[in-house]
This record gives sequence, C-alpha cells and structure tokens, in this order.
Amino acid sequence: MKTGFIGLGRMGSAMAANLVRAGHDVTVFNRSPDKSRALLDLGAHAATHIADACQGEAVVTMLADDRAVAEVTLGDGGILHNLPRGAVHISMSTISVEFSKTLAQMHAEHGQRFIAAPVFGRPEMAVAGKLFIVSAGDPAAINACKPLLEAMGQRIFSIGTEPPAANLVKLSGNFLTASAIEALGEAIALVGKSGIDKDAFVALLASSIFPAPAYATYGELIAKGRYQPARFAAPLGFKVIRLMVAAAADLHVPMPLGSLLHDRFQRLLNQGGEDLDWAAIGGLAAYDAGGRQTDGSPQRLPALEHGAL
Ligand code: NAP
Repeated sequence: MKTGFIGLGRMGSAMAANLVRAGHDVTVFNRSPDKSRALLDLGAHAATHIADACQGEAVVTMLADDRAVAEVTLGDGGILHNLPRGAVHISMSTISVEFSKTLAQMHAEHGQRFIAAPVFGRPEMAVAGKLFIVSAGDPAAINACKPLLEAMGQRIFSIGTEPPAANLVKLSGNFLTASAIEALGEAIALVGKSGIDKDAFVALLASSIFPAPAYATYGELIAKGRYQPARFAAPLGFKVIRLMVAAAADLHVPMPLGSLLHDRFQRLLNQGGEDLDWAAIGGLAAYDAGGRQTDGSPQRLPALEHGAL
C-alpha cells in the first residue's frame, strides 16, 4: 500500500521500519527531521511537509499525545486539509476518548475515513513487529488497512465501529499495567527490605501465579532498579493515567486506584523523574522503605540521587 507515517519516536520509528520491510510504499514525516534518516536508508521516502505524507491510501500517526495529534491533524497544512477523500487516517497514538470522537467527526465531515488503532507493547515489541493492535472504526476501512496493521502487529483485535472504543480499551489496559507496576513495587520493597532475593521473587511470581508479560517485564526492571533509558517515558505514563481518570469521570465511574496512580506519577515527576521509564513509580515504595540495593548501597531512584526529596 502507499501510506504516510507521521511520528518517528521510540515506537513510530520501529513501526514505520516494519512497513517498509513488508514492501509498502512509505513516506515518513517527523517534527524533528533528523529522526527520518535511518528510515530513508531503509527505503522510505522523506516528507518535507505533512502534506507529502498524505498522498496515499492511508496515513498513520504515532505521536506523543492529544496536543501533538491535534497540531499534526488540525493545524495549518495538517492531515485534515491534505488527505484525499476516502483515504484513511490510522490513529495509533494513545489519545483521549474525547479527542478520538472529535477526530472521527472531523474526518467524516471531510469525506475521509478514521480508525483508531492504539497498541499494547513496548518499543522492543514494535521492533519485532509483535505489537497487539486494538482497532475500532468502519470495518471496511479496518479491512483495507489490514496489510499495514499486520506488518506492525502480531494480532489485530477489532472491538467495534466507534473509534473511541479502542482508545478506552487501550487506556483501561494501561491502567491495569500501571496498577501491576505499583503493586509489584510495593511487594518488591517488602521482600527486598527483609533480605529476600528480589530477582528470585520476581522469577517465582512470573512462573507461577502471575505468568504475564507485564509482571515479568516490570518485575525485572523494578527488582534491578533499572529505569533508564526510558522505553516508555514517565510523562507519557502520567498522560495515560490522566486520560483514564478523565474517561472514568465522564462515565461517572469511581476508580480509586486510578486516583492513587495519578498521585504516584505526580510525585515522581515533581521529584525530577521526567527522563525515567514509567516503571519508576514502582521504585517509589523501595525508596520510601529506605531499603538497600543488592550491592548494599541505599535504594534510590536515579533522578532522586541529588536529594531532591
Ligand atoms: P516518543 O518517543 O516520545 O515520540 C513522540 C513522537 O511524537 C515524536 O515523533 C515527537 O516528535 C512527536 N511529537 C511530540 N509532540 C509533537 C508535536 N507537538 N507536534 C508534532 N510531533 C510531536 O513517544 P513513543 O514512546 O514513541 O510513544 C508514541 C505514542 O505511542 C504515545 O502516544 C504513547 O503513549 C504510545 N505508546 C508508547 C509505548 C511505549 O512503550 N513507548 C507503548 C504503547 C503506546 P519529535 O521527534 O520532534 O519530538
């Protein structure tokens, strides 16, 4: 297929590369143009303007947040004013339910099609083409884009004809992961302070009562205190929880754990955790417990080393 791809961050660069490798004709755009270089070497075409990435059957966006997607889509020279009638905007960023609704309406008014296809999986899964993609929108549009989605994901779930449904499912899944991170952090702080081997504890959990990727991946990061380099940055983790809390408020659904996670992220970011992986909220419990690292040194988060607390 002939497609554009906008947003070449940690996730987007890997996803666009898989589209090129699968033989699609891909034109890439990124706000900071230097990130396009590796993709051009692979065979992608460079877009100087957003409009250049809007000349095919589809354009994918994989951007930080609502604001980024709004600037790229609704701004002067954005997708809305350049995508041909009938072409599909595949929105794969994690964005709010409200904004997904707005995008669907605006594209419909311009005779364009809009599908939401946010993803589960960290950058290493994006590199391997193993993302889990949650799609929603017009079934014909999703079907038309299957060759693109299949090049990026190991499985494509279709959960309805209204795009915002996919965004709500994505936020709800992230809420569960963040809850697991917080719970793991507290349990690891407890066993760690008592002197039990934290890595062995995580290995036991992941091979017995919690045989899930989230427990293995985040349990290891927390047990080792390894929060850099960030693969999913803490500010984006905070965004996810804020959007989830907002969606819950709209539907009048109390989510006490959501409020707790909101405050955990707020604390981490107030203390200088912007450059850490979102798994670092799982390190707050060990920090508060005043525990020791495996090598006997005091437990600390990299960003808190300068005594910010
Ligand atoms: P990232 O590495 O921070 O990349 C963000 C991208 O958005 C970059 O291309 C950045 O451009 C662009 N951007 C930010 N603000 C912009 C603006 N105002 N106008 C235009 N472009 C803008 O983030 P990521 O980890 O790839 O995440 C991308 C999306 O996937 C997010 O919605 C995130 O929640 C979601 N997600 C991430 C993961 C993960 O594990 N990382 C997993 C699943 C879903 P520049 O290069 O110019 O800054």
